[in-house]
Amino acid sequence: MRKQIVAGNWKMNNDLKASKKLAIQVAKKVKKSNLKGTKVIIAPTFVNLERVVKATKNAKIKVAAQNMHFEESGAYTGEVSAQMLKSIGVKTVILGHSERREYFSETDEMLAKKVNSALVNKMNVIFCFGEVLEDRKSGNQEKVVESQIKNALFHLKAEAFKNIVLAYEPVWAIGTGETATPEQAQDMHAFIRQTLTNKYGEELAESVSILYGGSCKPGNAKEIFSKKDVDGGLIGGAALNADDFLAIVTAF
Ligand code: PEP
Repeated sequence: MRKQIVAGNWKMNNDLKASKKLAIQVAKKVKKSNLKGTKVIIAPTFVNLERVVKATKNAKIKVAAQNMHFEESGAYTGEVSAQMLKSIGVKTVILGHSERREYFSETDEMLAKKVNSALVNKMNVIFCFGEVLEDRKSGNQEKVVESQIKNALFHLKAEAFKNIVLAYEPVWAIGTGETATPEQAQDMHAFIRQTLTNKYGEELAESVSILYGGSCKPGNAKEIFSKKDVDGGLIGGAALNADDFLAIVTAF
């Protein structure tokens, strides 16, 4: 059975007070809703990670970072390494988000190195990828997604995928209010699983959780999550409100 996962990416939102407040609200609601098997992850900004880890110590939620550098240490002003994240109790990292790719010029090659560093440090990775609108309009979405996955992940041994969750996020749906239809999401997730099957075999492909991200909201989560190859969501805007986030978490 694949894990069902809902992860909230808070992006560059919430100062310390707001981060602790939201984390505690989410933790309380998760406890109350007595979830059966859905894993809940929240990803605050770097500076608030340690305090949020502490505030949610006994809760059934995990705390993830939104990014990290691929080197362990050194002259990389403003950067944070896997080892540093681990030292404050963060064991999961989101890598390859489209905003990192677009605004910070992250390439597949850099992402392959980041994935390696996370895995060497025994961290879990939520690996994001997805096509831009022009790719979809020209019918190239599968080609683009396949190359993003191959370039950043296909150097890995099969065992590595125990620590990797994939997040398909069509860039045209992120923060735009426009969502992929449940059918578009399912078609792409099935394609991603087939791509994994072709390289690593069906057993591995069937074991990897693939999340959908892109304007996922309480109103559309249930239908998207009901699709066979959709194992949960990576949530942006709606993760900033505890009620909306929990409505998505409980949409399975
Ligand atoms: C995201 O940034 O990963 C995301 C899915 O954002 P939103 O839900 O706001 O579209």
